[in-house]
This record gives sequence, C-alpha cells and structure tokens, in this order.
Amino acid sequence: MNLNTISLHSGINSEKWAGATSVPIFQSTSYEYQSAREIADVFSGKAPGHIYSRISNPTNLALEIRLNELENGIGCIVTSSGMAAISSVIMALTKSGDEVLTTNGIFGGTVSLFSKTLQRFGIKTVFVNSVDNHSFEKAITEKTKIIFIESICNPSLEIPDFETISRIAKEKKIPLVVDNTLTSPYIFRPGNFGADIIIHSTSKFVNGNGSAIGGAIIDTGNFNWKKHGHEQIKQLSQKTGQIAFLAFLRNLIYRDLGGCAAPFNSFLMLQGLETLGARIAIHCKNARSLAEYLNNNKNVIRIKYPGTGNNKGKIEKYFRGLAGSILTFGLGSKNNCFKFIDSLKIAKNLANLGDAKTLVIHPASTIFCEFTLEERNRLGISDDMIRVSVGIEDFEDIKSDFEQAIDNVFGS
Ligand SMILES: *Cc1c(COP(=O)(O)O)cnc(C)c1O
Repeated sequence: MNLNTISLHSGINSEKWAGATSVPIFQSTSYEYQSAREIADVFSGKAPGHIYSRISNPTNLALEIRLNELENGIGCIVTSSGMAAISSVIMALTKSGDEVLTTNGIFGGTVSLFSKTLQRFGIKTVFVNSVDNHSFEKAITEKTKIIFIESICNPSLEIPDFETISRIAKEKKIPLVVDNTLTSPYIFRPGNFGADIIIHSTSKFVNGNGSAIGGAIIDTGNFNWKKHGHEQIKQLSQKTGQIAFLAFLRNLIYRDLGGCAAPFNSFLMLQGLETLGARIAIHCKNARSLAEYLNNNKNVIRIKYPGTGNNKGKIEKYFRGLAGSILTFGLGSKNNCFKFIDSLKIAKNLANLGDAKTLVIHPASTIFCEFTLEERNRLGISDDMIRVSVGIEDFEDIKSDFEQAIDNVFGS
C-alpha cells in the first residue's frame, strides 16, 4: 500500500471490534485471562497478549502498526511524548561514561535533555555542525553509542546529509537515530537512507490539530543488533532475533520508565494520521508561497526556508521535492518581533508546530529562554528571529495577516 492508503487503513481490526472502522479506545489498565497458565505464558513471553497498559494496549497497538507501516519498519512503540521517545531510546542504548553525538540547531527540549539532564547521569553529548560531515567523523570516539540527528533541524532548518552520515554510522557500527518530526513519513522515510531508529513527536504533524501530546519509536531493521548491539541486546537477540532492540525497550526500559502513551491520545493520533498526506501537501504549498512573499518584502531582513537556497538537491533526493512547512525570518530586533506577533489576527502565538493552523513564536525569549546569549548564538537562535509553522488556511488569508502585521511594525 502507498502512504495515503496506509494512513487510512492500517491497524484496523474491525472483525474483532464489532465492525468498527474507527479504532476503539481500550480504556483498560489490565487484561484478564481464562486460566492461571495462560497469564503465566503471556508474562514469560511464551504467548502473545496484553498484560498491563503501561507495557502495551490495543489502541496503542493500532497506532504502532500504522506508524510502523508508514515508516516501513520492523516494529514501533508509542510513548507519552516525543521527549519520552527520545529519553527511552537514550536509556536503552547508553550508560554512564558513554557519549551521544548530535548536531547544533536541534529542538530546544532535546538540547536540554542532552546537555543538562543526561550530563547528571554521566552521559556526555558532543554537538557538531549538522552540515559538516567531516566534523561527524572526527567527533566519534570509542564511547560514542548513538548518533542523533533531526530530518530538518528545528529551528536551524538545516538538512543533514543523511547518506554520508549513515555511511559513517554504519562504518563505526553506531546506531543512527533520526528524529523525523518535522518531515513526517509523508515527506521523508529515513529508513530508506540508512537510519536505524526513527523518532516522532506525534504531537505535531501526526496529530495535526494540537489536541494531544505523544511520541513514537520505530526500528527500521537496518541495524544488526545480533552483531553490534550492546551485551544485553545481543544476548536477547539469541531469543528474539532482529526485534531485540524493541523487545529490550518494551520489556525493560519503556516498562521501567513508565513513559507509556494514553489510549485516548493514540485514538486522536490515529484520527490525525488519516489526513496526514492531504494536510502535508497544503502545508508545503502554503509555506513555499509565504517564503516567497517574505523574501520579496523589503522589511524582512532574512528568511530561511529549506525549500530555498542551496538545499534543492537534498530536497529532491530525500524529501520527494517537498520542503516542509517551518520557516524562520528576521525583523531586525526583538522589539519588532514582539510588535509583529502582537499584531497578528489569524496566526496563533504558541509553542507548538505542525498544527493545521498557522503558528508563530519568538524562540529566543520562549523555547530558548533558559539559554545564555552565547549559547543561543551557537545554536543559531538570534534575537530578531521569528519561527512560523505554516498552516493549511487559504493562503491569501495567511498573506494578508502577515502583511498587515509587518505594516504595523514598519508603517506601510
Ligand atoms: C516537539 C518536538 C519534540 C518533543 O516532542 P514532545 O511531544 O513535545 O515531547 C522532539 N523533537 C522535535 C523535532 C520536536 O519538534
């Protein structure tokens, strides 16, 4: 099946659900069995089944099947948030003394997890330039246990060279984790370009209407856990084969850390996924038009949109010609940014992205407010920058809203 068909049909088990084609919400903590023997077999892994919704749940499973199929993986685990997905993967693959290799310009929450929280547990993170392949190779040490990149870095909007980085990761036998939140499987399938593990914050494009927080982890099947996993995963792979990483994750890390998804949220994610392709097409079209409009506006100092500039080759090669719907632009000063945001009538001023509605935020004073000026400069978060998540409203209305707000700052 192709992407739009998977989005609508995958994970539906209507024969078992009294004919329902909308996935039922299994609002149950635990699952009863007919005999003591049966539940013992499920506990010991001899028979399949749900035990307790912190470990697995039928509504969550429907979402896991659908996301896994969209990413063409070998299995998926959904989590309470994108951050729970990232932290679970880190906990599964690293221990005190190990290193994570990642790039500058990635999501603020991830930067905080990597540079502050993990540090307290003795896990060091090395940040390199996302488009400098040479620095990746140089930064790898014996201790590097994960390479973590974003499909389009948020908010630097840089696109890594996936093929080169995955070749380096493969040579060094280090799992490559790609956070695919800003592109969604509709634009980019990282597994086709060598990624080993895919992360999603489903709170964004998957949900699409800002109604629930969630995350997902997908194993693409590219990494040989039997040969190159750490000892515990290697051992487990004797019993479980290629699924060892996910088995280790679900039956130990995910179970122990408790970052499980709520079944009602998974229901909302499944609803959102049905229209993913249709939405993304309009998102990308509107974003390209807004980028062009801002580019030609004399008051806009600079604009960054992955679809413009020297990214053309990467967009064609990796992203099916689509450049996503996030852009940033400069208005000269923080003051101008605040005035612009306060003048908007349609676009919402909030922290999310990937919503069907157009959203704006001033990253330096919000998402990155805990970072020093020096840190923000290194991360590319300038004081006069606005981030836009372009929605699917009629483009003329988005344009007029931006136009009147810019006029309000600079005078028409
Ligand atoms: C939002 C976001 C996250 C975190 O996801 P939550 O669902 O908010 O926990 C991680 N990565 C990227 C790229 C994001 O945009």
